[in-house]
Amino acid sequence: MQNQPFTYESRAQRVLFGAGTLAQAPAELERMGAHKALVLCTAPQRAQAEAVAALLGPRAAGIFDGAVMHVPMASAEAARAAAAQAGANALVAVGGGSTVGLAKAIALVSPLPVLAIPTTYAGSEMTPIYGLTENGLKRTGRDVRVLPRSVLYDPELTLALPVGLSVVSGINAIAHAAEGLYAADGNPVMGLMAAEGIAALGRALPALHAAPHDLHARSDALYGAWLCGLVLGSVSMALHHKLCHTLGGSFNLPHAELHTVVLPHVLAYNAKAAPHAMQRIAAALGTADAALGVHTLARRLGAPTALRDIGMREEDLDKACALALRDAYPNPRPIEAAPLRNLLQEAFEGAAPR
Ligand code: NAD
Repeated sequence: MQNQPFTYESRAQRVLFGAGTLAQAPAELERMGAHKALVLCTAPQRAQAEAVAALLGPRAAGIFDGAVMHVPMASAEAARAAAAQAGANALVAVGGGSTVGLAKAIALVSPLPVLAIPTTYAGSEMTPIYGLTENGLKRTGRDVRVLPRSVLYDPELTLALPVGLSVVSGINAIAHAAEGLYAADGNPVMGLMAAEGIAALGRALPALHAAPHDLHARSDALYGAWLCGLVLGSVSMALHHKLCHTLGGSFNLPHAELHTVVLPHVLAYNAKAAPHAMQRIAAALGTADAALGVHTLARRLGAPTALRDIGMREEDLDKACALALRDAYPNPRPIEAAPLRNLLQEAFEGAAPR
């Protein structure tokens, strides 16, 4: 029964999904009115980007392979210059959140539309959120100009994503949906997408862990990632995303691994304040308890479960706690120093969430 007032806003984006969808990239560019697209990627994904550029033929204006995590300003500026020099009138981002983030950094200061071809489960392609890092500080913002115009989800491109990275990237996606279920500005449509997204990833991750080249499992995971990304881009995130942003930015911890370690502890922190959301998360995962369900999933699939195992130092926990307390933001349970410090300690040690 729906008895809460809500606001629902949709955004103009085209999404094409399915194995082999990549073949439609040239037609998508044509729909955008683009005939010269700069293809963006990370250095390790250069071969994938070259294959896309070959498919685009004369519509490809070149390849820029300088995407790196958290979009350092220097790489954004180099990519902006490359787009201008190539005379590009569109951008094609082939990769995960880092590459889509680089496309957004260009789109922020130019009218170039973005065609995103995601190869991880991070979900950035579905959000108007951009990030730029300068002098060690990551600044994020929202601007509809950076939202990709079209997204091609082709699970064949995710077959090469290493299993370990696939698992943590999938749990990163689950985190978007989990926080979407208790978002202060949530709505029933996003609730449905969040529950469906968590369920898809909850069944796909063990399946692709067992058989990384199983295209059905890869499809299911990418489907879940799409839904979770849409939730991330549509409603406000809370303590979990704030903590991960702070820890990742200030202590340079790996993004998806960090989400994987922190999520069970934030769910335990919020459990009593958001019981309905917890029930939906647990039901989607087929477990009795949301926090324990995520922790068990991570552990079973060999993902990290302790901050100390992903580069955090115990002597920095007090500073992390102080940083996370600095700005006010909505969260189902008030954010208080002592329980937050306790959460960080438990996440540091990798204890099962309580
Ligand atoms: P990533 O894009 O950095 O990719 C991780 C590594 O995996 C890279 O080396 C990449 O080249 C490689 N890789 C990606 N796909 C591959 C594939 N299919 N096969 C082989 N290798 C592959 O990691 P990510 O977790 O996708 O993105 C993290 C970044 O995205 C962070 O900076 C995060 O803040 C940002 N992000 C932003 C949003 C948003 O809405 N703005 C959402 C989620 C993540």
